[in-house]
Amino acid sequence: MAFQALLSSLRAGQKPDFPGNASSLDYARSLDGEDPLAHLRDEYIVPTKAMIRKRKLGGEFGAARWGSQWRDPGPCPSDESTEDGSSAQSGADRQPAVYFCGNSLGLQPRATRHYVDAQLETWRSIAVQGHFVAMADSPLAPWQDMAAVCAAHMAPLVGAASDSEVVAMNTLTANLHLLMASFYRPTATRHKILAEWKPFPSDTYAIASQLQWHGLDAASSLVELFPDAGDRDAQDMRISTEAVLAAIDAHADDAALLLLPGIQYYSGQLFDMPRITAHAHRRGLVVGWDLAHAIGNVELRLHDWDVDFAVWCTYKYLNSGPGGIAGAFVHERHGRVTPNDAADPSKGWQFRPRLSGWYGGDIGVRFNMDKAFQPTPGAQGFQLSNPSAMDLACLRASLSVFDKTSIQALRDKSLVLTAYAEALLDGILSDSKSRRGNNGSEAPAPFRVITPSNPAERGAQLSVLLAPGTMPTVAAALEAAGVILDQRKPDVIRIAPVPMYNTFGEVCTVVNVLRDVMLGGPLGGLM
Ligand SMILES: *Cc1c(COP(=O)(O)O)cnc(C)c1O
Repeated sequence: MAFQALLSSLRAGQKPDFPGNASSLDYARSLDGEDPLAHLRDEYIVPTKAMIRKRKLGGEFGAARWGSQWRDPGPCPSDESTEDGSSAQSGADRQPAVYFCGNSLGLQPRATRHYVDAQLETWRSIAVQGHFVAMADSPLAPWQDMAAVCAAHMAPLVGAASDSEVVAMNTLTANLHLLMASFYRPTATRHKILAEWKPFPSDTYAIASQLQWHGLDAASSLVELFPDAGDRDAQDMRISTEAVLAAIDAHADDAALLLLPGIQYYSGQLFDMPRITAHAHRRGLVVGWDLAHAIGNVELRLHDWDVDFAVWCTYKYLNSGPGGIAGAFVHERHGRVTPNDAADPSKGWQFRPRLSGWYGGDIGVRFNMDKAFQPTPGAQGFQLSNPSAMDLACLRASLSVFDKTSIQALRDKSLVLTAYAEALLDGILSDSKSRRGNNGSEAPAPFRVITPSNPAERGAQLSVLLAPGTMPTVAAALEAAGVILDQRKPDVIRIAPVPMYNTFGEVCTVVNVLRDVMLGGPLGGLM
């Protein structure tokens, strides 16, 4: 049982030993044969090489079927037609593409179409009654309950103590603003935000604009945590836990909020959330985490870690579809709603200040249209608006696949899958080194993996910093091989094998494309 042995080493924090034939497709397939989650791939639509080249719908929504008048499209004819809409394809075109971009947009679950169809049928049949009426054979709850149902299915993914610590609402950046409005309360002495040096742009803008909103600015109130190497040129991007704790100590008197990504989107570093959170709390800081790249990827225990709040999007590892409805966590101790006078509701309630809207109002009184705001206890009391039932249907569909496994099992597979990718990449580096040694050449290594090599400090993703100027050639080779993989210009490719649907065979194929282009093909002479 190679898979189990590899997993045991990885769970024990050790680098596993892969055999000499690890870069062969046979070996990769043997691991796929032992993969306990291999069946989950069938829950997703993995595009073929022809599909990813399509630039015209051509399937049921092609002009021929859609025309100017709506007609029931009936069963889905062909997702596999080519650019020109024809379905004549070579055998190679029918092969699945290799999709390693689930960290950016997850693949479509097969369930999505079914759930969306159910929602459309509900709406067209019973219209406004869909808010409250449950359809007997539908996978969906009445619209009024759907956000809470989605929250309940996300709760195990973030380690909430109860469903009420989680909410499905808005989008990630909107949630970041809403929760900062409640949790970032600067005072004359405590006003700084501690963040990392290279946040995702939206987080950078959110932080900067929050500071401005409070009449502050980044020069006086933003503390950026730089990589330990002190390297602003992105050579070694790791920020050690010790460095984070030291920065917290240094700003124990003037910082109000620590806001970090669970996993840094560019370097792929997974932060030690429990240790950092506990330390920041000891120094009196409020702690928020952006889990865009962590949810559905690594195990999280937000309640036990005592995290104050967290936000995430659902279209990356959670596969809810482009721009899908997002999520947030608010610790139970911040979500309490207590009446000023238990005997007299007209006396109002105590609750954490926030920016409110009617959907944050308790469902029992929401439609009384009262002037006094009585929030739903917990994270769901932070909702503003009537949420999109379509978005919720997509999220509910994608979460139905997570219900078939557990985040522990996904992380198990992910540890092995990513370690395998790393081992094969290391193989390229050592072959290139011995080759360069033979030539006595001083040529640079073809790439460097900038994601921490310690499996406990990363999720699924490996970020590969390519030798300067080689990106266009590498990208062309990947594209020609039908590989979809994220490029961050100028020089980083992010390889993210997703345990839900990617295989060891795919990892092997992709790294061998890189090997060919770097050691054999067009770049072979250079490196
Ligand atoms: C993907 C991502 C976002 C995207 O924000 P949206 O509001 O969903 O557009 C924001 N922050 C981080 C860290 C991300 O990885």
